[in-house]
Amino acid sequence: MINRKMLSLGSEPSAIRELFSYGLARKAEIGEDNVFDFSLGNPSVPAPKSVAKALERAASQSGQTIHGYTPASGAYGTRQAIVENLNRRFSTHYTADDIYLTCGAAASLSITLRAITSGNPHKQEEVIVLNPFFPEYRVWIEQASCKVVEVATNPKTFQIDIAAIQSALTAKTRAIIINSPNNPVGTVYSEESLIELGKVLRVASKDFGHPIYLISDEPYREIVYDSAPSWIANAYENTIVCYSWSKSLSLPGERIGYILVGNKVADASDVRYAIAGAGRALGYVCAPALFQYVIEQCIDEPCDIDTYKHNGNLLYTELSRMGYTCIRPQGAFYLWVKALEGDAQAFNRWYTLCQQLA
Ligand code: PLP
Repeated sequence: MINRKMLSLGSEPSAIRELFSYGLARKAEIGEDNVFDFSLGNPSVPAPKSVAKALERAASQSGQTIHGYTPASGAYGTRQAIVENLNRRFSTHYTADDIYLTCGAAASLSITLRAITSGNPHKQEEVIVLNPFFPEYRVWIEQASCKVVEVATNPKTFQIDIAAIQSALTAKTRAIIINSPNNPVGTVYSEESLIELGKVLRVASKDFGHPIYLISDEPYREIVYDSAPSWIANAYENTIVCYSWSKSLSLPGERIGYILVGNKVADASDVRYAIAGAGRALGYVCAPALFQYVIEQCIDEPCDIDTYKHNGNLLYTELSRMGYTCIRPQGAFYLWVKALEGDAQAFNRWYTLCQQLA
C-alpha cells in the first residue's frame, strides 16, 4: 500500500513546473534566446568565476578528501567560515556549532519544522505564513503534521500586518515563517515592522507558556536593492535562520544551505539536537561535500545585485506604463503582477496561446 498523501503530492499538477517544462520544449523548438523563462526561481545571473576556480582546485584533490562524507552537520572549516563571515558583516557572535549545513533552503525549512513541532497530528499545531507565500511552505508544514495559518500582509505594500498576526496567534502556534526579501512579491520587511513582530511574538510566547519560533527563510538575503542586507535575528531572540546559496551565488542545482540556531534561541541546545535528529530522520545528513568546499572558498564572494536591480526596475517601469499593477521590488528577483482580467487563470491561458502563435 503506497502513501496516498505522497502520491497526491507527487502527481498533482504544478503550474510553475508545467511552465518550466513548456519553456524547455519551446527552447528546443525555437532556440534558447527566444524564450524568456519566468517559471522556476533559477537566477539569471551566472555563478561567479570564483566558483569555477574552486571547483578546479577541488578536482585536483584526492577523492577521499573532496568526495567523502563530512560530519552530519557539515565540515567544521565550512561552518567556521560561514560564522566568521556573518560575525564580520552583522556584528554577531555565532560559532561553528550553531550551524547545520543542509541541501538548500528547502531542506533547512523542512528539517526545522520537523524539529520544533511535536509531530503529533492530534495536537493540531499551527504555523503562520504571510500571504502571498512560497507555495512549498504548505507542503513542509503539513509534512510536519501541522496546520497552515495564512495571515494577510498589507494589500498595498505587502509589508507585515502586525495586528493581523497578533489576532492569528493562538496557544497552538508553534512558529511563523517569514521571507524577506520576499518571493513572490519582492518586499523587504522594514526594520520597524520586524522589531514590532519580535515584541508581539515575545508577549505571545510568554502568554502561551512556550516559545514561538520565528523561522526566517533567507535565500534572498543579499539581494536587496536600496539598502544593506539586515540581520533579522537581531529583532527577535527565538529566530532560526534558514539560508541557501541558491540565489546569492546562483547555485540552486547544487543544493547547499544551512540552518543557524544561535545561543539566544530558547532551548538552543535541544533545538540543535532536534535539527540534527530531523536531518537524520529525513535523510539529509552531510550536505554535498564538494559544495561545502566551494562555499568555504567563496564565502566572501559578493552577489551581483546591480543586474537584478536593473532588470527589476525595467520590468516594473515598463509593466506599470502598460497599465499593470505591481509594487516596485525592493529585493529578490520577482514581480507580483495583477492580471488585467479578474480571472488570472484566463489571463495565463490567453498569454500562453499568444506565445504559441508567436
Ligand atoms: N524559500 C523561498 C522563498 C524560495 O523562493 C526558495 C526557492 O526558490 C526556497 C525557499 C528553496 O530554496 P533552495 O533552492 O535553496 O532549496
